[in-house]
Amino acid sequence: MGEFADKVAVVTGGASGIGRETALLFAAEGAAVVVADIADAGAGETTALIEQAGGRAISLHADVSQAADCERMVAAAEATYGRLDILFNNAGIMHPGDGGAAETTEEIWDLTMAINLKGVFFGCKYGIAALQRAGGGVVINTASFVAQLGAATPQLAYTASKGGVLAMTRELAVIHARQNIRVNALCPGPLQTKMLMDYLDTDEKKQRRLVHVPLGRFGLAAEMAQAALYLASDRSSYVTGATFNVDGGITAAYVTPE
Ligand code: NAD
Repeated sequence: MGEFADKVAVVTGGASGIGRETALLFAAEGAAVVVADIADAGAGETTALIEQAGGRAISLHADVSQAADCERMVAAAEATYGRLDILFNNAGIMHPGDGGAAETTEEIWDLTMAINLKGVFFGCKYGIAALQRAGGGVVINTASFVAQLGAATPQLAYTASKGGVLAMTRELAVIHARQNIRVNALCPGPLQTKMLMDYLDTDEKKQRRLVHVPLGRFGLAAEMAQAALYLASDRSSYVTGATFNVDGGITAAYVTPE
């Protein structure tokens, strides 16, 4: 069996993008995976793909902005597979109406915070207790490079929510460090996923973003899954509280190559 034989993982936002690729990779390494999402069809597809490949998974309807759903998602991992070892708080939204302070409505702000920030809190609120019951484990929270760099094409609510994820990750890492629990933030750069391609919906908008990426291309969800695999495995046993950038160099750049 693979690196995660006997491990149990919960992946939120597992119906598509980073979450799906990570669920597939964790399962390929032997983990049993709870694929949690509000998108039931996509979550079911992820589970089916895992099962076709000979892995173990269940899909579960969970809206991470709802405490009861997060409690149920963690309970499902323990009831079905007996424990929880890896919690990947990855679900997130990028609202098309999110912009600067003047144009972002209170509703968009509240919805973005409820899913992107409170959702991570709820995942940790119930998930960390389960990791403690298992004698330790790993939390990975998906933040973003935008939590570290300002953009003239603003998404104020999104950016603030991801900044909150980084701050919460650091504090949780310190609180739980002596309990054999590591907590890290995965910070993807701009990716070729539906979420970002829907937002950068013209070639001009895509090029304007790529100018800032030293590697000169958008990242792939599968490349984020490789980073999540590292952070979830014992290979990263001395890594906690990290802002783990997997971003094509965007946060390192001042001037990019021609
Ligand atoms: P995606 O849209 O493909 O996946 C997000 C998933 O989250 C979807 O399956 C969606 O149904 C689910 N989701 C949305 N609201 C939910 C809720 N309330 N409860 C449960 N699930 C919910 O996008 P992705 O790129 O794979 O995004 C994954 C994470 O990566 C997000 O947190 C996103 O902010 C972050 N991220 C993405 C990029 C990018 O360029 N795509 C860059 C940096 C960070």
